[in-house]
Amino acid sequence: MDYSKYLNNTIRSVKPSGIRRFFDIVNEMDDVISLSIGEPDFRTPWHVRKAGIDSLENGKTWYTPNRGFKTLCSEISTFVKRKYDLDYSADSEILVTVGGSEALDVAIRCLVNPGDEVLVHQPSFVCYEPLTSMSGGSTVVIDTKATNNFRLTAQELEAAITEKSKVLILSYPNNPTGAIMEKKDLEALCDVIIKHDLIVISDEIYSELTYKGNHVSIASLPMMRERTIVINGFSKAFAMTGWRLGYAMGPKEIIGMMTKLHQYCIMSAPTVAQYAAIEALRNGDKDIEQMRNEYDMRRRFVVGSFNAMGLDCFEPCGAFYCFPCIKSTGLSSEEFCTRLLHSKHVAIVPGDAFGDCGEGFVRVSYSYSLKHLTEAIGRIKEFLQEL
Ligand code: PMP
Repeated sequence: MDYSKYLNNTIRSVKPSGIRRFFDIVNEMDDVISLSIGEPDFRTPWHVRKAGIDSLENGKTWYTPNRGFKTLCSEISTFVKRKYDLDYSADSEILVTVGGSEALDVAIRCLVNPGDEVLVHQPSFVCYEPLTSMSGGSTVVIDTKATNNFRLTAQELEAAITEKSKVLILSYPNNPTGAIMEKKDLEALCDVIIKHDLIVISDEIYSELTYKGNHVSIASLPMMRERTIVINGFSKAFAMTGWRLGYAMGPKEIIGMMTKLHQYCIMSAPTVAQYAAIEALRNGDKDIEQMRNEYDMRRRFVVGSFNAMGLDCFEPCGAFYCFPCIKSTGLSSEEFCTRLLHSKHVAIVPGDAFGDCGEGFVRVSYSYSLKHLTEAIGRIKEFLQEL
């Protein structure tokens, strides 16, 4: 049967993710040592799992309010005030979602009208472009540069703006580069954002994994709260990827619209996960710190190793990725990763999976044990020597 006539044309025209294509090859091979995943290797802290288990044992298995439990929204409000000096009302300015992923989808769908332009800096996470095009908008890609440590500059932003520009998606700490934006970098952007009356979707899912100073949210800067939707969640900070819980925060008019959409497509985020998340926010500071310290140690090891091998790697100060440059090998990112995979059985992700300007780089996740990392780094070293 030919299904093409039944399928939605917009969704059909979206390209599948470049990461997936690469994983399809990895999955067919045995004995692969992987530095390719984008999730914590830690288990969810026990007291957080226990809170989820307790809720099930007590039969708390019903829908929650559409926005999420009031208690959870209050804990989120307290957490983001304490950590990032953000002020959001638990009653009207926070929406609990199915991961940061749903928050991004719903935010984009609530803001973008057909014909609108969404500014996206790259290399970056893979969902922004497809979600925008599925909303009828188009993305204007801004290439960030290794020479600027992959930070988005005000000049780069200004140069990309047209009269159709409406939304800027800001994604720091960044996947795949590990770049962060410091306060001064964000302040420089704010002038341009305000001058051109843009609205910002700020994906801060890695905010707790910042290794130099504290994370700064753009929404905490003057006159930005009213024009920013902050996306965050539990996946990375609390090692809770499988629980599927995130949240969006913003002006009540926008969060209200997003809640309407969420109500029709999701109803409410998973109940068991919401109980666990309340515990995570109340008593999880120490867990975050322990995991962050461990990532930081691995980060230093991996970045040091790449630089020692002659693959230039700027210092990533956030998330759990490094993004070494492989141009000196003369191979493309895809060739480098494919050959490394076949000859040494090490999986890393070609940088161009995160946008064309990622060509010449590879994404290496250090969300693995030191033993695993040491083995993989040893094999990459051999690979380079044999090239
Ligand atoms: N944003 C970024 C930058 C990510 O890397 C990810 C997951 N890899 C997400 C959002 C979505 O995370 P989740 O849906 O698990 O909260």
